[in-house]
Amino acid sequence: MNFELLVATNNAHKLKEIRQILSSHHITVYGMKDLNIDIGEVEENGNTYFDNALIKAKALQQVTKMPIIADDTGLEIKSMNNEPGLYTARFAENLGGHQEAFKEIFKRIEGKDRSATFVCDIVLLNVEDKPLKFEARIEGKIASSISGEGGFGYDPIFICNELNKTYASMSQEEKNRVSHRGKALNKLLTYLKINNLIY
Ligand code: IMP
Repeated sequence: MNFELLVATNNAHKLKEIRQILSSHHITVYGMKDLNIDIGEVEENGNTYFDNALIKAKALQQVTKMPIIADDTGLEIKSMNNEPGLYTARFAENLGGHQEAFKEIFKRIEGKDRSATFVCDIVLLNVEDKPLKFEARIEGKIASSISGEGGFGYDPIFICNELNKTYASMSQEEKNRVSHRGKALNKLLTYLKINNLIY
């Protein structure tokens, strides 16, 4: 039995992580490019991570009957009133990139509580009548300076409490095991196993 999933992302890093985590469970993971699907830019204007993930998944549902997953991720920094949160991607874009975003965050939380949470909502569509949500929240803190060469996005500044180092300092196997995306995908895997969709 081989379960096939299409991932609603154009982010090659996300796709790689999702593929690594799911492919060892007899799941074939397709990206949109693999199937020559181009749905252009989808406006993520929801009020929650779930809404935004659902917007991405539904855009793909227009063109396929395959099971689809989409993820939406945000970094909530306690002493920034849980910003950038839903606007994590835009925060970096508006400042000109992640390096600029790191500088801005360091400036704004200087001398304050550095606690932060990485949140990931994954939506599964086309398996049940209704969309299914799998969420993980990972506690950590913002590093005092960037650290590590791996990963992408905010990985160099997020220290995950479980391993006490930044995501960017972890091996890919470590990040997949402890990260927001890894834990949310594990909840998805449990659901698929319980429902005999994978073994
Ligand atoms: P989105 O979920 O693709 O909208 O991503 C929101 C923002 O979070 C973007 O700035 C991404 O670079 C960042 N992001 C998403 N996943 C990760 C991750 O695993 N590590 C670090 N940053 C991430």
